[in-house]
Amino acid sequence: MRLRNIPHADDVILAHAAAIKNETEQKGNWHTLFGNNHPIHIEIGMGKGQFLLTLAKKYPTINYIGIERYSSVLLRALEKLDSEEYEGLTNSRFICMDAADISEVFEKGEVEKIYLNFSDPWPKARHARRRLTSKEFFARYDRVLAADGTVEFKTDNRPLFDFSLEQVAEAGWTLNAHTFDLHHDPVMNEGNVMTEYEQKFSSMGNPIHKLIASRSS
Ligand code: SAM
Repeated sequence: MRLRNIPHADDVILAHAAAIKNETEQKGNWHTLFGNNHPIHIEIGMGKGQFLLTLAKKYPTINYIGIERYSSVLLRALEKLDSEEYEGLTNSRFICMDAADISEVFEKGEVEKIYLNFSDPWPKARHARRRLTSKEFFARYDRVLAADGTVEFKTDNRPLFDFSLEQVAEAGWTLNAHTFDLHHDPVMNEGNVMTEYEQKFSSMGNPIHKLIASRSS
């Protein structure tokens, strides 16, 4: 998701209390920042924040952190957070960063769950390592997740999904569940919260694929 460059995005992010600027200094201290010991769930590549903010409102005893590479996109999530719909929400924070660096931001065991939704496919084989479900990224997730931590991934892109299933195995992770048609899978679809891209692609008739994987150690 690329929005046109918005000149004041960086200023808004700098001034917003929910946007964490010194994220590497919070490593190991995220529970102190939230002021509680609730589990921490993160979404990588959260886009404009629809999924994360819906979850944060629905589950007040979970702390949510949204990670997004582009400030122009993160700005939209902050605007949403400031809207009347999310007034009084205290369990969400945002970081503008490249997810490749997450082990500099979270201590091992600090994160209980990682959501990846409609991640960029990077279709060229030579860019496979950039995919958020590559084994290289699973190794990064391993460095921040709790022992029973999980990754949940949704996409409508079948080649990316097939690649991701292979990478779960190659990374030595356990595939807990998967479906090629989430919205027609009554078990996996229970409690499903739609992302912006999920709404867009499923309204075009595309089946949504989902996998849940956990660390093996
Ligand atoms: N998750 C949202 C949804 O499902 O509606 C947005 C999907 S959009 C296709 C992918 C988003 O991931 C973009 O906003 C992009 O900037 C972000 N992204 C891609 N790679 C990233 C990375 N390495 N670190 C942080 N964000 C990333």
